[in-house]
Amino acid sequence: MNVKRAPDRVQADREPLFQTMIESLPDLLIRYEPDGRVQYVNRSLTELFGELREIPTRGGNAAEDGRQAESAYHRTVRAQASWVFQTGRAVTIEQPLERPAGDKVVQEIRLVPEFGADGQVKTVLAIARNMTPWKAAEQHLRAKERELEELACKDSLTGLANRIAFQRELRQRLEHLSGHGGRIALLTLGIDRFKAVNDTLGHCCGDQMLKECASRLVASVGDKGYVARLGGDEFGVILFHVADRCEALETAHALARDISRPMRIGTNNISISTSLGVAIGPDDSADEDELVRFSDIALYEAKPLGRNAACSFSCEMRDRFEKRFEAERLIAEGITLNQFSVVFQPKVELATGEIIGAEALCRWRHPQLGMISPEDFIPVAEETGLILDLGKLVLTKACQFAVICNSKRMLPILIAVNVSARQLAFEGFTGTLADCLHQTGCKAEWLELELTESNFLDDDQAIIRSMKAMSASGIRLSIDDFGTGYSSLSYLSRLPVNTLKIDKAFTCGMKTDPRQEVLVRAIITMAQGLGMLTVAEGIENEDVAKKLLMMGCDTGQGFYFHKPLSAEVLLEELRGRCSFEELGISFR
Ligand code: C2E
Ligand code: MG
Ligand code: MG
Repeated sequence: MNVKRAPDRVQADREPLFQTMIESLPDLLIRYEPDGRVQYVNRSLTELFGELREIPTRGGNAAEDGRQAESAYHRTVRAQASWVFQTGRAVTIEQPLERPAGDKVVQEIRLVPEFGADGQVKTVLAIARNMTPWKAAEQHLRAKERELEELACKDSLTGLANRIAFQRELRQRLEHLSGHGGRIALLTLGIDRFKAVNDTLGHCCGDQMLKECASRLVASVGDKGYVARLGGDEFGVILFHVADRCEALETAHALARDISRPMRIGTNNISISTSLGVAIGPDDSADEDELVRFSDIALYEAKPLGRNAACSFSCEMRDRFEKRFEAERLIAEGITLNQFSVVFQPKVELATGEIIGAEALCRWRHPQLGMISPEDFIPVAEETGLILDLGKLVLTKACQFAVICNSKRMLPILIAVNVSARQLAFEGFTGTLADCLHQTGCKAEWLELELTESNFLDDDQAIIRSMKAMSASGIRLSIDDFGTGYSSLSYLSRLPVNTLKIDKAFTCGMKTDPRQEVLVRAIITMAQGLGMLTVAEGIENEDVAKKLLMMGCDTGQGFYFHKPLSAEVLLEELRGRCSFEELGISFR
């Protein structure tokens, strides 16, 4: 049977229960009366302060007690309690306290009003909790956070500030200038050909080199500036005071000279060069992001100039860069939207006039801008690295064409593809090539790669290795635009080159300048001596074609024979007319 108990009886039953709970709470409880006197304190509080003498209970006075620290504590709590009496609103405060044992704690004290039936605040209850362990944990956490922040701002290899710290410093410096005037210079410094050195000597040496550069920079700049490693082989320097652009450039050159002094890395003595971009704040910009961008643009201009070049930012430079950037965007879009195609310019055997090969040439028809010359877009694609995608596209189309042409031919037509230095230097190039042959079913013997002399300027071992591998697989290699580069001829004897393509500047020049003829003759003789074939490009008339044949040139290419043709037209050409007799041309 369920017995219903009267509410006051239930209350009375619960009273001792609440009392035990309150007395065993670790929190301190103090109940204040409106005149500031303490009506009640729980056991935790008495345990903490011992006797309650210093608490202004009825009949006691803290000031008389003389324990100033504790009194100050209670004065504050009482003052807060009086505020709660006045406003009727709860409040939370944080209060330090030195305990009688001498240790210091921090308390969080919440003071809440207790209302009577008339809506007036009758008493205020203060509940104090020791927050010391939490505070200690918080402080520890903050210290760890600071440590992490410091780490996040530091470059772990060189110990220099990193990009984040650099940007912050730059912002502060520029802000300072806006109030005080003056000029700062931002120098962005890149190590030339760092990747090649890193690849050749190993990453360990590369790291040592970066460290050495960092310490040289720090020593050179001293307290006149701020040095950071911005990432990879790029360093940033803020020069705190420069009079003008000239002074900034002078310092840039001095830094470059310092870094280019030979350095001992492992067992090697190495000399490196750097390129530098310079921007001036606030002249060029007072915004740190923009200033960094401008000095990057200047560095971008300095890079191709080579050894220790420093360029200072200018608006024309920015316009050029933006145009190039827009061109890059358009090329990338063109690749995605299939705007690029490939045409084939036949190569004919000069003795018979037979088409024996064709050069794949890339074409770009933009829906609004019309036909764009490869002379314009290939350099941009090379600079931006888009040549890797574009080159793959051309290679695939060329291989597909070689398969269509040659699958039923006894004597295969050799399809030549132009390969940029950037493509050849790309370590995945031989893999791309193998994939392409495999996927299209093209035989290695049907493919020729036209490389320019610029590939051999640096005697890059990786390039030499990949050329040897390609040649061993049966792919033929020719040197395009031969005679226009600046490389030494010695590479010809060391590399597996099958053919020299005499540049069209020589071929065209033969008509008017007998000295060009001498040069062409010399190239042909040299190629014959080295067991190489010759192709003359840019043949525009019969006389030149005849002369070349008489000089012993094997193959010709040029508008005189054929303009670059679409794949369909060339196939048609190959099926039908393909000898000089049929074309009505005769050399004999
Ligand atoms: P290149 O490899 O030396 O190609 C020969 C260039 O000479 C072609 O120009 C061709 O149309 C042009 N040509 C052919 N016969 C004659 C002639 O009788 N007289 C004159 N004046 N010119 C003739 P194009 O197609 O404008 O290509 C220019 C350059 O662009 C190429 O020079 C090559 O360096 C580059 N290029 C073209 N397609 C590609 C490609 O797919 N990949 C790479 N990496 N470069 C390419
Ligand atoms: Mg070519
Ligand atoms: Mg050429």
